[in-house]
Amino acid sequence: MSIFTYINEAKLPTFWCSGCGHGVIIKALAQAFDELELPTDKIVIVTGIGCFGRSDDYFMTNALHTLHGRAIAYATGVKIGNPDLTVVALMGDGDASSIGGNHLIHAARRNIGILALCANNRNYGMTGGQYSPTTKQGDKSATSRYGLPEPEFDLAALVKAAGGSFVARSTVFHYHNLVKYLKKGISRSGFSFVEVMEPCPPMYGKFNELGSAPEMIQKIREEVIPLSRWKPDSDRKPIGILCDVDKTSYTDAYDEVIRKAGGKDGN
Ligand code: SF4
Repeated sequence: MSIFTYINEAKLPTFWCSGCGHGVIIKALAQAFDELELPTDKIVIVTGIGCFGRSDDYFMTNALHTLHGRAIAYATGVKIGNPDLTVVALMGDGDASSIGGNHLIHAARRNIGILALCANNRNYGMTGGQYSPTTKQGDKSATSRYGLPEPEFDLAALVKAAGGSFVARSTVFHYHNLVKYLKKGISRSGFSFVEVMEPCPPMYGKFNELGSAPEMIQKIREEVIPLSRWKPDSDRKPIGILCDVDKTSYTDAYDEVIRKAGGKDGN
């Protein structure tokens, strides 16, 4: 097998802008599937709307292209319907944390066994670079031309606090670690969240004069620090596995309810 067992080579190159991080992320996900030797018919990619919402076009797996902010809601339904499937919700930062923010925290609280992957480029790229909940305070966007007064959401910390069992953060620069976290997230029975920091050169990069895609990636690299060296007063974000706890997944807890109610395994 290879990553092209999972990625449709005939659809390449992707429609994304030159320098966009999305292609790196879907390659990492395909590599994780490949290294885990997952059958394509047992994987369901669920997407919302936005540039990253087009990811399902490139996968050779089952796919469900849904509504803005609703990828996790659909993914939850798929997982409850067939807990044996590997269900991955792919979302941008606006999709995951603004329109879909409530789905995100409640999926973490329930510990539903899906992998939620958030491609965080700090803005709504597809619609022209408006600010999102993860835009850095003071940064410019199409809707904050003089600098955003709001502080940003720390999505990994949010999901950890809401009860997610596996939470990791990486960047497109730290590719091999990203693959490792995706493999771990897929292998967990509960809710997994992987946040990936990435560049959006023509929107966020343009508004904030961050330079070319390689220059943006270098700046992202300087914004983060491995968890082992991170301190609470650091102005850099920790990367690595931020939470990894073993808890009963929602589908296992739900099976127990069915059993008590005299369902499939009850008497
Ligand atoms: Fe990627 Fe930004 Fe281009 Fe959208 S606008 S494809 S997020 S670089």
